[in-house]
Amino acid sequence: MSNLPTEPEFQQAYNELVSTLENSNLFQKNPEYKTALSVVSIPERIIQFRVVWENDKGELQVNRGFRVQFNSALGPYKGGLRFHPTVNLSILKFLGFEQIFKNALTGLNIGGGKGGADFDPKGKSDNEIRRFCVSFMRELSKHIGADTDIPAGDIGVSGREIGWLFGAYKAQTKLWEGVLTGKGTSWGGSLIRPEATGYGLVYVSFDLHTQKTQYVDHMIRYASGGQESFKGKRVSISGSGNVAQYAALKVIELGGTVVSLSDSKGALIAKEGQGITADEVAIIADIKVKRQYLADIASTQGFCEKYEYIAGARPWTHVDANVALPCATQNEVSGDEAKVLVEKCTKFIAEGSNMGCTQEAIDVFEANRREKKGDAIWYAPGKAANAGGVAVSGLEMAQNSQRLSWTTEEVDEKLKSIMSNCFHNGLDTAKEYVELGEGELPSLVAGSNIAGFKKVAAAM
Ligand code: GLU
Repeated sequence: MSNLPTEPEFQQAYNELVSTLENSNLFQKNPEYKTALSVVSIPERIIQFRVVWENDKGELQVNRGFRVQFNSALGPYKGGLRFHPTVNLSILKFLGFEQIFKNALTGLNIGGGKGGADFDPKGKSDNEIRRFCVSFMRELSKHIGADTDIPAGDIGVSGREIGWLFGAYKAQTKLWEGVLTGKGTSWGGSLIRPEATGYGLVYVSFDLHTQKTQYVDHMIRYASGGQESFKGKRVSISGSGNVAQYAALKVIELGGTVVSLSDSKGALIAKEGQGITADEVAIIADIKVKRQYLADIASTQGFCEKYEYIAGARPWTHVDANVALPCATQNEVSGDEAKVLVEKCTKFIAEGSNMGCTQEAIDVFEANRREKKGDAIWYAPGKAANAGGVAVSGLEMAQNSQRLSWTTEEVDEKLKSIMSNCFHNGLDTAKEYVELGEGELPSLVAGSNIAGFKKVAAAM
């Protein structure tokens, strides 16, 4: 029995990449890259297995486990594990495919992979999740290693699950090695890894001499000729997991106002003028660890006066914001929602999630870029904007290989330079490979796709 009639998500990610490559002069300049495209579109290897585990009632349960080892031209397979009931091969192939080019954009020697299971942590006890992790690793441990394939977290897999998985790997193989990233700092994890995806998205420490900023702040400052930053900006964020929480905290720290967060059941919208506070983010982080929903706190004192909770909604059409950061999951901005964002003059859109925008939404942003020229909105794709997470994972691997732990400053400095390169690489590559109309801004989506693909194609 298959749970996979078609591969719509993978097809979407593939088409999105190919359409930008074909609309550039890449294949004219490098005809051999056409062959590289056919080769890179097929995973080197896919491992599928069953995971049998025991629930708290002593009953046996079974789930599907996967690891897609997509491409190792640049280094060992690297990419997260997702535990979510929707997980299937199409979703993992799309994520693994995106990961290849995202990892290439970091400039580190890491290939692309992704894995996970159709296991739903919601409604499970801590012990059930731990037993699931141990069973999952019993099989996965045969196929991964510190120099071959290094998983990390993704939706449903945070530091706690990485801990259970790491312990199971160690028990199974007798090896203490950097086989997983996102580990706790007391047992081989890197400082800044938990914060890295959300911080990398928005975080800035702008130094006029080195021009080192993180992704969105870099984009805002570049677009405004250095005049604007997050300060005073209204920022709409979707999601409320790790990426959304740290993105929100950094926006607050930089003087922006966070006007929304959400989860799979609904959106929390800040009423006029008020923004989400760091203390409220901490409360939300706490309920997420307990696998509860925003709905569970929306009517409590403190939240109900300040926020409107809209069941079943995503934030985009319910707020006026200058910046939109989709940080929940794939395809969370539709074409119609993108039109509303454009109408509301949301000037910057950057994905903390992977493939957060549908192709229709990207088409709306790209049409705006062509029509509005210098006044256009800026859209940054996830494979560039959220690369901070896997970048710090790469730095964690380097520390583990050296048996060293770097300071926060050392990791931070390296992350800043990676994110700065990521932004400029996308921008410069778009200028080099895509013909621009008079006054048109370069496309970050085309530039990032071409830059990531070119690096992998050349290595292959
Ligand atoms: N899941 C994250 C991503 O989509 C992190 C992957 C990693 O650190 O290996 O990039």
